Amino acid sequence: MTETLNISINKTANSKIDQVDFNNIQFGKVYSDHMFTAEYRNGEWNNLRIEPYEAMRISPASPALHYGISIFEGLKAFKDEKGQVNVFRADKNFERLNISANRMCMPQLPEQIFFEGLNELLKLDNQWVPDVPGTALYIRPFMFSNDDYIGIRPSESFKFMIITCPVGAYYAKPVKVKIEDHYVRAVEGGSGYCKTGCNYGPAIYPAKLAQDKGYDQLVWTDGRDHKYIEESGTMNVMFVIDGKLITPALGDTILNGITRDSVLALARDWGMTVEERKVEVAEVVAAAREGRLQEAFGAGTAATIAPIDLIGYKDEDFQLPPVEGRVFSQKVLKELDDIKLGRIDDRFNWVSKV
Ligand SMILES: *Cc1c(COP(=O)(O)O)cnc(C)c1O
Repeated sequence: MTETLNISINKTANSKIDQVDFNNIQFGKVYSDHMFTAEYRNGEWNNLRIEPYEAMRISPASPALHYGISIFEGLKAFKDEKGQVNVFRADKNFERLNISANRMCMPQLPEQIFFEGLNELLKLDNQWVPDVPGTALYIRPFMFSNDDYIGIRPSESFKFMIITCPVGAYYAKPVKVKIEDHYVRAVEGGSGYCKTGCNYGPAIYPAKLAQDKGYDQLVWTDGRDHKYIEESGTMNVMFVIDGKLITPALGDTILNGITRDSVLALARDWGMTVEERKVEVAEVVAAAREGRLQEAFGAGTAATIAPIDLIGYKDEDFQLPPVEGRVFSQKVLKELDDIKLGRIDDRFNWVSKV
């Protein structure tokens, strides 16, 4: 049996928790009292610590700042009616972090550091996990180059950190999306399947152009011909057409979403026909035109399910059926909430308790 790690803990003397109104939380504005850090130097992870959340020093020459040598994850913890803290599918986030690390020439993070760091942090900041219905604690693990060297090469030193913030009830307002036919998020052979900083900065401008035209978000298409649907913002996309659940197959241009995986698992468990394959824009547009597009939604940790009520493509907008009648997305959302809050049997073993 492996021993537990030596994580030094320096508790804050000035908790900010009394300043937080848990009934009215703005996403990403307030961070919990503590953060976890591990440092990688000379081929080893050391100096594991939990300390008060605060600004930190970084070399002005760090490749994280210049070349985007940074990766991240996003997951949530929930407090159930008995005050128990449940974390949803953290093993998947750990796996994906190391997939991103590999692509960015970063070291693999040992499993024990990820899980003990997370567990100790959540124990210490237990009060920060809100219990108001619909709320959660958002968990942001990330790793970046801590080198003091501006050359372009694999970095040698890194920091892995975890910060957390309470997030409010996300009443997913239906979103209006535009199918992008010019700008590109990812191409084959690129890094689209990774949560690395470099994928997100350049996506803001095309999204802003769409927002200026009244859409909420983009749906990206393939970088070669703009013929196939890929994903949307920080969500995978799914369609229910003629009673079948259809979503683009994974590849190196699409992020392997954990919400996506969970939705597909539930659909299969319920005996629904699931198709993971190339999805042509033309197919979705034709289905929308002919009234066969029953549901469309984004799937991601932030909203779980974000219903899409309008799809814009070239110069046309397609209005989708009302959200109230969407049997599959509503059922899947409820089932996921029930699993996360321990209200039903965790039959897929998705929840770990802190
Ligand atoms: C994080 C992310 C998703 C959703 O992944 P989840 O694990 O479900 O949160 C989808 N697409 C992109 C580009 C992402 O960054």
